[in-house]
Amino acid sequence: RDEVVMSELPRRRMMLLVNPQSGKGQALSLYNSQIQKMLHEADVLHTLVITERQNHARELVRDKLDLAQWDALVIMSGDGLLFEVINGLLERPDWEEAIRMPLAILPGGSGNALAASVHHYSGSTPVSSEELLTSCGFLLCKGLVSRMDLVSVHLISGPRVFSFLSLAWGFVADVDIESEKYRHVGAARFTVGTLVRLASLRVYRGRLAYLPASLDKCKDQPNQTSSLWPASKMYSFSNDNGCPIPEQNSCHSNNSVKVTRSENGLHRNIPQNPPGPQDSLLPPLDQPVPSNWVVVPEEDFVLVLAMYQSHLAEDLLAAPDSALDDGLIHLFYVKAGTSRAALLRLFLAMEKGAHLTTNCQHLVHAKVRALRLEPHSPKGIITVDGEVVEYGPVQAQVHRGLARLITG
Ligand code: ADP
Ligand code: MG
Repeated sequence: RDEVVMSELPRRRMMLLVNPQSGKGQALSLYNSQIQKMLHEADVLHTLVITERQNHARELVRDKLDLAQWDALVIMSGDGLLFEVINGLLERPDWEEAIRMPLAILPGGSGNALAASVHHYSGSTPVSSEELLTSCGFLLCKGLVSRMDLVSVHLISGPRVFSFLSLAWGFVADVDIESEKYRHVGAARFTVGTLVRLASLRVYRGRLAYLPASLDKCKDQPNQTSSLWPASKMYSFSNDNGCPIPEQNSCHSNNSVKVTRSENGLHRNIPQNPPGPQDSLLPPLDQPVPSNWVVVPEEDFVLVLAMYQSHLAEDLLAAPDSALDDGLIHLFYVKAGTSRAALLRLFLAMEKGAHLTTNCQHLVHAKVRALRLEPHSPKGIITVDGEVVEYGPVQAQVHRGLARLITG
């Protein structure tokens, strides 16, 4: 019965968003030379949308996207465009449904960390540049949908943002932003930027606190995957029969929907403002952290880096044991006092994910559910998914498996 209904639906398709300015400015030509043919051969219908400016994609998915019309949103750019799309989806009044839209990433930028992570999770040997694009194109055609963690990030003013990759302060954030001027060298911009920053290595003062994952009651569950394509390839995928609906467990803090008893005795869901899930682990930023949080005794850092996926860049395996929806923030920090040589060794080892075994006395790794960072230096850079955000106190908590990503 379902199949009859499905075949009567208009054929749905993917929206493929390309940022023509990303990376070396060649995303569109890579689409034309590689992706278009690949999708055609795999019989994947898609509509190309070329972004015209920053926040174009964010506004499009927030204000104009008809969820029923699309099977997936594919982002061909760096991580920045996906950041826009995820935040646009979560700014919608119907965010709970919208964030279940399967997303996919095709590396077209200079910071392709999520694409590298997806490739890594597929178990393949590391590749870069166009080989990474081919791999991600292939995984996209396979169409297996998995859940992906998102992290909600609160800044001192302005609305919170949702992050899928990283939160950085200190050395890593400075390199990320300073290296934008080397964008023309592609992914190598981070290597160049690291060497430049090492020459002017400095200490960043601040306070760091976190909620260890071991203290939080969230249970580890294996990721559930489902196929984007039905066996018949009739594009009958929908969130109701294809992709697992998030049965959010208690620590998912799905409190943004209030259950009340209506007059006829039935339960109704009344959405609250603003859109997005509630952050039950976070007190207001101007109040102290809860007593079960760990406050890091040191206040002098070289870097603080929170990762939720494996790769920080195409060739930086920063969180080797991270999984797409492990519900964990992998928190790393390097205490002041490390030498330039030790830091260089750390970043060289990170190419293979071996930095945790380099025996760097200054590097600390903790698996956490929430964190707070209060920089004391008056000026500085904080990045979320490689984008600059407001500098100042910041706190974050993970929402396990909130989004959907095509991972092959
Ligand atoms: P890269 O990895 O090369 O930095 P991103 O995908 O991160 O690529 O994109 C960089 C920035 O460009 C993002 O902030 C994104 O919002 C913005 N952007 C998207 N489309 C356009 C466009 N058409 N023109 C200029 N900037 C754009
Ligand atoms: Mg993770």
